[in-house]
Amino acid sequence: MARYRESVCRLCRREGLKLFLKGDRCYGEKCAFERQGYAPGEHGQLRKKPSDYGVQLREKQKLKRIYGLLEKQFRGYFEKADRQKGITGTNLLLFLEKRLDNMVFRVGFANSRNEARQLIRHNHFLVNGRSVNIPSYLVNAGDEFSVKVKSRDVERISEAMETVARRGVPQWLELDKENFRAVVKTLPTREELTMPVHEQLVVELYSK
Ligand code: SF4
Repeated sequence: MARYRESVCRLCRREGLKLFLKGDRCYGEKCAFERQGYAPGEHGQLRKKPSDYGVQLREKQKLKRIYGLLEKQFRGYFEKADRQKGITGTNLLLFLEKRLDNMVFRVGFANSRNEARQLIRHNHFLVNGRSVNIPSYLVNAGDEFSVKVKSRDVERISEAMETVARRGVPQWLELDKENFRAVVKTLPTREELTMPVHEQLVVELYSK
């Protein structure tokens, strides 16, 4: 599968906000955005007023990068969201939130979504008692996911579980830290998704 291979810190600088793509480093002094909070490149410090299209495009790129997806996959979620009843933008956010890599990150079994993807591919997780190694697997309300018993000593998982208090576990998830397991109590409402994105702009962009 194609992957983004450049420095992910450039993505935060490009989008003008911290996307928290590097786990622990994002919370410390080494964060590149804290040191250089302007767009990368020769003209990165020049500010131009973007066009409407430019604003929509940046919003789409931002959302895609927060969840670590490439264009084709992200567009696929939009198309599914558009076919569903309800508000397309909210449906899109819910598809992204339901991904197993996102859930593993949100609950603190990994320090970033990227790390969660690697850990899932390395077969460290169960969903409803069955082994799942597909980061895009969609988890639903009532589902349970957990770290396999043989994987509980994996350093990256235990380190992440120690530092999760810093960002907190969302209230729609219930973490049983002692047993390395979590339950999706309910899917989040739009109000509970607090990252700064305007998904309606993404809908407008793709609807042209
Ligand atoms: Fe973004 Fe984290 Fe890099 Fe800071 S350390 S620029 S938040 S990825």
